[in-house]
Amino acid sequence: MDLVELVDSSHATGDVKFLRAKDELRAALAPMRREGSSIGLVPTMGYLHDGHLSLLRAARAECDLVVMSLFVNPTQFGPGEDLDRYPRDEERDLRLAAEAGVDIVYAPPVEDVYPEGFATQVEVGGGLTDVLDGDPARRGPGHFRGVTTVVAKLLNTVGPKVAYFGQKDAQQVAVIRRMVRDLDIPVRIEVLATVREADGLAMSSRNAYLDPGERERATALSRALRAAEATAGSEGLAAALATARAELRAAGIEPEYLEARDAENLNPVAESNGRPVLIAVAAQVGGARLIDNVLIQL
Ligand code: AMP
Repeated sequence: MDLVELVDSSHATGDVKFLRAKDELRAALAPMRREGSSIGLVPTMGYLHDGHLSLLRAARAECDLVVMSLFVNPTQFGPGEDLDRYPRDEERDLRLAAEAGVDIVYAPPVEDVYPEGFATQVEVGGGLTDVLDGDPARRGPGHFRGVTTVVAKLLNTVGPKVAYFGQKDAQQVAVIRRMVRDLDIPVRIEVLATVREADGLAMSSRNAYLDPGERERATALSRALRAAEATAGSEGLAAALATARAELRAAGIEPEYLEARDAENLNPVAESNGRPVLIAVAAQVGGARLIDNVLIQL
């Protein structure tokens, strides 16, 4: 079905504008901004699940106008990563966005975001982007350079009062908060809890890659994190990590990383120092590279 038709036939679920061009987006937002409407932005790569929907609902509850961007950003995928097979279903996304009360879905083509001659990158340093997923042996700092560059562009184009992100991508949250602070971007970053399946698996568009056996094994990630959380208070972080590692091993999962870090500056932490601690894990489970984390206050 043509997307325009889909929008036209979706009035029952609310009027959502579907825009591909940055100029159209700017033009649609300008009168709203003049009227003083508050704009909420939810950046996504689409293939929406309940994690995305919780961000959209929060934006709907708090802002006059909700903009969802839908863009599978090629610059945050490394060579050999899953850019080409990343799941996409624009029609379904548009329907779900309309149902969640989104006003504008901005789904630009790659050329609109990165036109000929594009030569500027936004890179956050400070040890935030070369650890965990940013470690050169893993996704590498280029991943976060891609994320911060595209998010900075979206924030500039949309000019939201609030931008919504998920705790599921805890490192991304730390990196974006730092970028916004360092570059004086006038936006409030709102972070929502990780939404999980009934058996604990963190929702992710990449869960679509899991076959039934892998899907079952993947529950070990959240189980490991829950075990770590339960252990950390009484036995400390080293014991917590050991407990988590044992849970993973029992499911035949060798993590890419399983680490305790300061939730804000991502420095390694060995013992409680009163600041929030992030226990983060990444692992390849069959065809999917999965990440998950738990935030603990010791
Ligand atoms: P993505 O489309 O995967 O780039 O995600 C778009 C936004 O949704 C990001 O801010 C993610 O952190 C957030 N998100 C993804 N999965 C979840 C989840 N399970 N719970 C809460 N937020 C999520």
